[in-house]
Amino acid sequence: MIALIPRMLFYLHRLRRNLRLKPSDLRKLQWEKLRATVKHAYEHVPFYHRKFKGARFNPDDLKTFDDLRKIPVTTKLEVQACDLLDMVTENTDLDSLTKRRTSGSTGVPLTTLVDGRVSDFEAAVWMRALFEDGLRVRDKMSVIADPRSFPKKESVFQRLGLAKRKYISIFDSAERQLALIKEFKPDVVKGYASSLFILAEEFEDLVGEIESRLVFSGAEVLDAPSKKLISSRFGAELFDCYACSELGLLAWECKEHSGYHVNADSVLMEFVGDGGEAVAFGEKGRVVCTGLFNRVMPLIRYELDDVVVPVNDECACGRSLPLVKFVEGRADDLLVAADGRLISPTLFFPYPFESVDWIKRFRVIQESRKRLVIQVAPKKAVENQSQIIEAAERKLHELFGNLEVKFEFMENIPLDNSGKFRKVISRINSRSRNR
Ligand SMILES: [Zn+2]
Repeated sequence: MIALIPRMLFYLHRLRRNLRLKPSDLRKLQWEKLRATVKHAYEHVPFYHRKFKGARFNPDDLKTFDDLRKIPVTTKLEVQACDLLDMVTENTDLDSLTKRRTSGSTGVPLTTLVDGRVSDFEAAVWMRALFEDGLRVRDKMSVIADPRSFPKKESVFQRLGLAKRKYISIFDSAERQLALIKEFKPDVVKGYASSLFILAEEFEDLVGEIESRLVFSGAEVLDAPSKKLISSRFGAELFDCYACSELGLLAWECKEHSGYHVNADSVLMEFVGDGGEAVAFGEKGRVVCTGLFNRVMPLIRYELDDVVVPVNDECACGRSLPLVKFVEGRADDLLVAADGRLISPTLFFPYPFESVDWIKRFRVIQESRKRLVIQVAPKKAVENQSQIIEAAERKLHELFGNLEVKFEFMENIPLDNSGKFRKVISRINSRSRNR
């Protein structure tokens, strides 16, 4: 069957079927995938073999979902410090894999690896959510994203002349983005939450200019007033998606907007309290995820920085995927260029550095429209530091206009006063987003 139809469509078909499973059958499916993933990681991934051994955990000890907590969490800093070869299944040809780089929400740059099978599966997971929310295969979609993430080849649908896409760079000004959207006349707009918010805030009469039916947002948490503003300015229904580049789409809103459906058939999401214990329904917990599909670079009990509330409600839509609600999470401020343009904090994925392999963590602080401070904690001494700084300054000047950029190299970047870490902070109050 796989040989006859493209792999992505095959996955999509199976994933859509899962939406109608009984909760107990969904749990069973998840259990089988979990056991296989944990066993595979122990037997074939050096990092996890060591980790499990260190915790005196053997995959045979996994008898119930609760047993999973015997495995310590995997942090971003651990993955970052680890030799990539140790994180990957033994005997894998690294050249055949696609590298993904991200700073995530914590300013910790990371590289993860996927093969074609994982890319197709993750694409299918995304398509399932978008189709369920009303996307049609003939729809034209404008996608505002980092140009480095633009797909290099056409999808199955595009080869059939369907699903036309216009990719718009997040580095373009809001005026340019709007002009490109107007020219393309998309049925659907998809983008980083902050980019959509900036468009909504800058242009009061968007409704007359863009006639889209749906808007999909992601990458940053949106509060209710921001969601309302985007939806009303675009004159379209807004669906927010919760994703990370390491594990793909994790959860998404359905038309009921009563929370986010967790893709329980592709990820096992745990919610843990401060002591590492599982929190009860209705209580806040930090998100810890185990990917159930990527066998090239599995992530088991991978700790994200988001806090959600798992809820035990059945969604009125009838889908059995469990629900979570957001309470807090990624909360980076918007940045402001010298001429007053708002700039998305998500630009600082690995931007402005060419390579991020040497960076342990970074933070951007906008002190005023005239001054930007970039704090960098390097992993080790940097050889060509002055060249790196010069190149980064040039990029920042292109984007922000004429403002002073100061680099501060430090061993460790201190947490905020609140005890959290935000990678982008603005000290300009008037137009920064108040969340
Ligand atoms: Zn629902």
